[in-house]
Amino acid sequence: MNIFLWLNVACVTLLLSACQPTQPLVLSGPTMGTTYHITIAQPPANLDQAALQKDIEAILQRIDFLMSTYRQDSVLSKFNNSHSTQWQTIPADLFEIIHTAKTISAKSNGAFDITVGPLVNLWGFGAAQTIVKPPAEHLIQNLKKRIGYQKLLLQNNPPALRKIEPTLYLDLSGIASGYAVDKIAAHLETVQIHNYMVEVGGELRVAGRNPQQQAWQIAIEKPLALTREIETIIAVTRTAVNTSGDYRTYFEYESRRYSHTIDPATGYPINHNLASVTVLHESCTWADGWATALMVLGPKAGLAVAEQEKLAALFIIKQDGGFIEQRSSTYNHYLATH
Ligand code: FAD
Repeated sequence: MNIFLWLNVACVTLLLSACQPTQPLVLSGPTMGTTYHITIAQPPANLDQAALQKDIEAILQRIDFLMSTYRQDSVLSKFNNSHSTQWQTIPADLFEIIHTAKTISAKSNGAFDITVGPLVNLWGFGAAQTIVKPPAEHLIQNLKKRIGYQKLLLQNNPPALRKIEPTLYLDLSGIASGYAVDKIAAHLETVQIHNYMVEVGGELRVAGRNPQQQAWQIAIEKPLALTREIETIIAVTRTAVNTSGDYRTYFEYESRRYSHTIDPATGYPINHNLASVTVLHESCTWADGWATALMVLGPKAGLAVAEQEKLAALFIIKQDGGFIEQRSSTYNHYLATH
């Protein structure tokens, strides 16, 4: 969500680093209908940059092949299009991310639910046609009956999925970009790169120091739809930072905003005064899924779950025409130790 501010911060970083002994290495490109950016501070002298970028693109292409609902030949689309209720074996990576997703579903009382895909599409988000006014009530209620993470069974030996409801359709867009960040970060560590910022579609994770050999400065933006302003800047050396909000992907109808975050309990886009939530976590996959879950839960229930799960979360809430911040009790300690 804070990709543009991040880029401004990164550009400033690049300019200031001109006097540094080694230039940072910046790799970027298109992926998953959005972009990725990787900044490597103090790149190893013998680093084969072309080979590294090739490895990174191979990781992203594999994730796209496994988890995209924007292409019919992906493993996920084939599972979605099949109405079989038999066990269907899946690759280990898909097992890993769906296991995380289902765990967050169970801990968030179903607020995060990857089976919400048909409703995401009905509301004109995801791979579906965009719409300009809410769909008919009976269509929403029909789909609401079909979804539910408990209707999706998962086993690990061999890794396999099974639908209890034949028409289940999974949407991993709320967690897969975080997963891609984690996979790229893991690869960088294997080639002895330990000072980096990896960002995919606004989900990001940092390690070590920036090109000025200080903590990475990450801007968390104000949840404003039409302008970009900074809410706060955090200095971090070892964490993922994920923001979910209602101010980037939405449509307005009769002066109500309908965003792409769907509440599985109602079948409607969320409708409360939480404008954004940022989750800090050592895993970008978990931060991505939890940010969506807390966004669905809203300011009160979201804070209660963040406290129960000891999540470092920053809630930005609409109030009296402006915003107020609410931090979970672990937020400040997490920030001071990461
Ligand atoms: P987040 O804010 O992190 O999550 C919101 C998304 O999560 C929603 O868009 C919805 O999909 C889902 N969601 C909504 N409510 C819930 C809920 N209650 N529980 C769980 N999930 C929920 N976009 C394109 O335009 N073209 C492409 O080719 C394309 N390819 C993609 C390939 C892959 C593998 C993935 C994962 C996504 C792809 N996308 C594509 C989508 C795009 O990358 C983003 O995922 C999408 O725009 C949402 O990103 P976000 O960070 O704003 O979502």
